[in-house]
Amino acid sequence: MPSKVFFGSAHQARLEARETLPAKLDLILDQLHIRDRVSKETVVIKMHTGNNMVYSTIHPVFVRRVVQAVKDGGGKPFVVDVSWDAAGAETRGYSSEVLGCPVYSAAGPDEKYFYEHERPYKNIKSWKVAGLIQDSTFMINFAHVKGHPSCGFGGAFKNLALGCMAGKTRGAMHDAMHYDPYWFPEKCTDPAILKQITDACPFEAVVEDKEQPGNLHLHMEQCNQCGRCLRVAPTGSLFISPVNFHSFQEACAIAVDIVLSTFEPGKATHLSLATHMTPVCDCFGFTSMPILPDAGVFGSDDIVALDKATLDVIAPTRLIEENIPTSLEVHTREGHPFQWLHGPLKDPYKVTEYGEKLGIGSRDYELVDVLPVEKVERSSLTYIAAS
Ligand code: SF4
Repeated sequence: MPSKVFFGSAHQARLEARETLPAKLDLILDQLHIRDRVSKETVVIKMHTGNNMVYSTIHPVFVRRVVQAVKDGGGKPFVVDVSWDAAGAETRGYSSEVLGCPVYSAAGPDEKYFYEHERPYKNIKSWKVAGLIQDSTFMINFAHVKGHPSCGFGGAFKNLALGCMAGKTRGAMHDAMHYDPYWFPEKCTDPAILKQITDACPFEAVVEDKEQPGNLHLHMEQCNQCGRCLRVAPTGSLFISPVNFHSFQEACAIAVDIVLSTFEPGKATHLSLATHMTPVCDCFGFTSMPILPDAGVFGSDDIVALDKATLDVIAPTRLIEENIPTSLEVHTREGHPFQWLHGPLKDPYKVTEYGEKLGIGSRDYELVDVLPVEKVERSSLTYIAAS
């Protein structure tokens, strides 16, 4: 049976509060029966509070509604994020006064409070799950959807995978992209050609390894797989391979599998807000122009279905190319709009495929629109009298 994904569209017919996204979030919380499920639970709300001067993360108006629903149901809510985003979250509006619950660093202020989980994957031997995540009895994963330089897009998987791990594991997950070799120096021994390869990249994504001269290092995040470097690299010396790019997403799926395994069945649910979707992650510390039209708000107990549905709703919309910073380029218009910007090998769907293979959830879903946009007659603007 397909998993249910509840959806509130960003579109509305009337200029009325009940047709806006916070009201649709309320309908989704009702459909997920949040209030009935959280009595006496310690409820961790994992969100990305952004960094520095970000203003495009989930607006506190939405978070407050989730917090209130948990309180109404008799649960004890608190918000968590990684230490350097939680510290200073109040400067972006995430304070206990505004949200109605405290904001903590998930693994403590020094990222030293975690539980170790053995599960070898490439360079990762064990995974450090943040202490406050594992100590909780109910999880609400509240993700802001945006582009991401490592995997094309950041959604519900990404919010848990990186955000629920302590710092060392987050670093190791990024390093997994370098585990499978992509540079074979014996095939390119001429330093002049080495320089031609690095000079070919307009993004400084492929550089000479400072610690190992004569070797190349590929900054996967900066690479959009345009292939310019491959045109000058001797055959067999450099590979821009799916395995390197996909390793990050496989690591994300494993991380989520581990995190969710610390909760009893039925004690986790997932929400995504797909508005003001920027080219890169909220951790960059700034907000740039949105690159996609706002899609809406989503909710499901199945994280695989949720991310798949979110991507599917976004897929037919257009990349707003005029909003893309001029330092970046669109070199393909095939695949998902996030691939147009981040490259074909950063396929945003991959994480859902890995997640489904691990048995976390299903890519087969039923999208339930909680308030379909009606076609209504044109009418006058609602007027609020000054008196
Ligand atoms: S594929 Fe393109 S972006 Fe990636 S390293 Fe080569 S030249 Fe740079």
